[in-house]
Amino acid sequence: MNEPARAAAHAQRIGLLGGTFDPVHIGHLRSALEVADILALDELRLVPNARPPHRGEPQVSPTQRLAMVEQAVQDIAPLCVDGRELLRERPSYTIETLEAVRDELATDDQLFLLLGWDAFCGLPGWHRWNELLAHCHIIVLQRPDADSEPPDALRNLLAARAVGSPAGLHGPSGSIAFVWQTPLAVSATQIRQLLASGKSVRYLVPDAVLAYIEAHGLYRAPN
Ligand code: ATP
Repeated sequence: MNEPARAAAHAQRIGLLGGTFDPVHIGHLRSALEVADILALDELRLVPNARPPHRGEPQVSPTQRLAMVEQAVQDIAPLCVDGRELLRERPSYTIETLEAVRDELATDDQLFLLLGWDAFCGLPGWHRWNELLAHCHIIVLQRPDADSEPPDALRNLLAARAVGSPAGLHGPSGSIAFVWQTPLAVSATQIRQLLASGKSVRYLVPDAVLAYIEAHGLYRAPN
């Protein structure tokens, strides 16, 4: 878009949801769509993470994980894929991804980093974690039945930055809000186990992802 047209457009609202997506499943997708709706996002980008080298990738390559996410979100706006973390030589830190995405946006565009409660609680261990809110708002995905206390290191941050609801998030970055969701009882671990034991995962993943898994013989136990 050229600059005058861009200036006249409304500020974009972009969400980022990271995960290994090994494979992507309906739990991820349903949760992503609900959050996109609650936050009225223009785009919700699923960002497949590189796997830490020690976990290894015996069967499924980064390219295949990326291809499955692409299949899953095809024509499902506002969901889309951002493959930049898989295209790097080394695993990326979230702060680097945020800086790179921010560089591509207009200054008033709003960026939302979506994190599950457990990931949020682990934030103080992240590289340059106290710089994250300079680039984005943080949306903490919380379960209605959760009864969790944040670690001490996050209490001051929450007191200073948390707003009562996502409607209270203004400007391009800087605040924290909670979104309450009941997750579907599906995990990628369960899907890998089903496939390794020769069972069906139909309806746990989109049909296009199932077709990809079958076409490439992914997650099968070695003969
Ligand atoms: P694994 O079983 O391999 O650990 P996973 O199913 O938890 O994988 P990830 O790729 O690790 O999937 O998850 C990416 C993000 O999606 C995380 O923030 C995670 O909390 C969230 N997520 C995972 N499963 C669900 C679900 N069923 N409903 C909602 N969110 C989910």
